[in-house]
Amino acid sequence: MPDSLTDPQRQFLQLLHLSVPGDPPPEVTQAKAPASTAPPKRSTPAPAGPVPGSPRSAEAAPPPAPPPVEEAVSVPQRAESALPDPPPDPQRLMRIATLDWLDLGHMITACRACSLGETRKHAVVGAGNPRGSWLFVGEAPGAEEDRRGEAFVGRGGQLLDAMLHAMGLSREHEVYIANILKCRPPNNRDPLGPEVHACIPYLQRQIALLQPRIIVALGRFAAQGLLQVDTPLAKLRGTPQQYQGIPLIVTYHPAYLLRNPIDKRKVWEDLKRALEVFAVLQK
Ligand code: SF4
Repeated sequence: MPDSLTDPQRQFLQLLHLSVPGDPPPEVTQAKAPASTAPPKRSTPAPAGPVPGSPRSAEAAPPPAPPPVEEAVSVPQRAESALPDPPPDPQRLMRIATLDWLDLGHMITACRACSLGETRKHAVVGAGNPRGSWLFVGEAPGAEEDRRGEAFVGRGGQLLDAMLHAMGLSREHEVYIANILKCRPPNNRDPLGPEVHACIPYLQRQIALLQPRIIVALGRFAAQGLLQVDTPLAKLRGTPQQYQGIPLIVTYHPAYLLRNPIDKRKVWEDLKRALEVFAVLQK
């Protein structure tokens, strides 16, 4: 990102409560979701292990605010769930691997491969330009996405759009957005290992069809799911990552940042790094 800021970049910094060159330094506060938009407190008991601080719980949970542990805590997806992994289904995987965009969308919207297919209102396939060079990967639909069947349309989506705008990108032109899970986990709980295992073939097929030049993983579930590791987000951020040879930048999920604006400065650095990597790819 250039040193001299454009208006979108300046607005993005102001949105993130970061200092804008030439402006007085802002106060750094912990953002709280307005009461009118805050989903109900999770009723599902937390599974064993350190789970608070995930992007989705950060988006949904009312006060008391959890500590910003997004980058500090590693929660192996398989260890979170008492559910067994679904049995391997080579025929299903082979079928998914051959689908075009249209049939892939149809299969996702009709999918019942995990229990989330029974509780969702709408499966969310993705959004943006399926010929875009950039792929942003999030975690799972939230309440608003589930209700509307669209990706990143809540407050986190607005912040993501601001991030894209500051980068000179847009969903309409350069960017496609997808999630690790296509259906919303009840009560905004974190994804479970078997759900990720059942759903990630769809994302893998989307990536194969899209063939992005660069991927940005939003939050630890996206990063860990794509990279198939349990490494903490703090160790994945800022280090070169690849998904099948495609450069992958790891940063925070916008929903997490809504609750932890103090970490948004790190997002600024991640986005600049992503632009730098992309610029090198263009040479
Ligand atoms: S989350 Fe994925 S695997 Fe589970 S029902 Fe929805 S689309 Fe199917």
